[in-house]
Amino acid sequence: MARYSGAVCRFCRRENGKLFLKGDRCYSDKCAFDRRGYPPGQHGQIRARKFSDYGTQLREKQKVKRMYGILEKQFRIYFQNALRKEGITGENLLCLLESRLDNVAFRLAFARTRAEARQLVRHRHVLVNGRTVNIPSFQVKPNDKIEIRAKSRKIAGIMDAIEAGPQRGIPKWLELDAEHFTGLVKAPPSREDIALDINEDLIVAFYTR
Ligand code: SF4
Repeated sequence: MARYSGAVCRFCRRENGKLFLKGDRCYSDKCAFDRRGYPPGQHGQIRARKFSDYGTQLREKQKVKRMYGILEKQFRIYFQNALRKEGITGENLLCLLESRLDNVAFRLAFARTRAEARQLVRHRHVLVNGRTVNIPSFQVKPNDKIEIRAKSRKIAGIMDAIEAGPQRGIPKWLELDAEHFTGLVKAPPSREDIALDINEDLIVAFYTR
């Protein structure tokens, strides 16, 4: 599946909020949003930002896509799957995104960003129930055991990320055994577990307009 590989700080500036796409840098004084908190581009500083209803919905959709590092086509497929599932569509959508293997590896603090976690998965450093899975969009289920394969446990980036894990906090639907580089999916994620500033109703309104 394709992915965006350009500059990402401009996304935070476009969405007018920090999306935390660059790990430690996001908490430092090098953060581009803290330095230049106006939209990117030639007219970023001069144009007043007033959005129509459509514009507000579009921005929310773009923000979530960018948080999870997903392109439009795949995001739309997630939405259609969320629509087909029982329950509240917006919550279903967020739960599907949250259950992606790259996101779970990020949440378990195997990596500092989702992009880094995606690379871990693509490079076959991550096992699910003892088997290598190199598909970032793989959906985890309750009782799945996610671990870093034995010979990758000495990688400095992974060790640093795991060390910083307790500071970042592990969501309660997951359990981390940092000593053994292993995590367990205890339950499906619920909306309350996803502590992100997202208004999913706007995304539903965008796709059903
Ligand atoms: Fe966004 Fe700042 Fe992180 Fe760049 S450094 S991704 S602007 S939060």
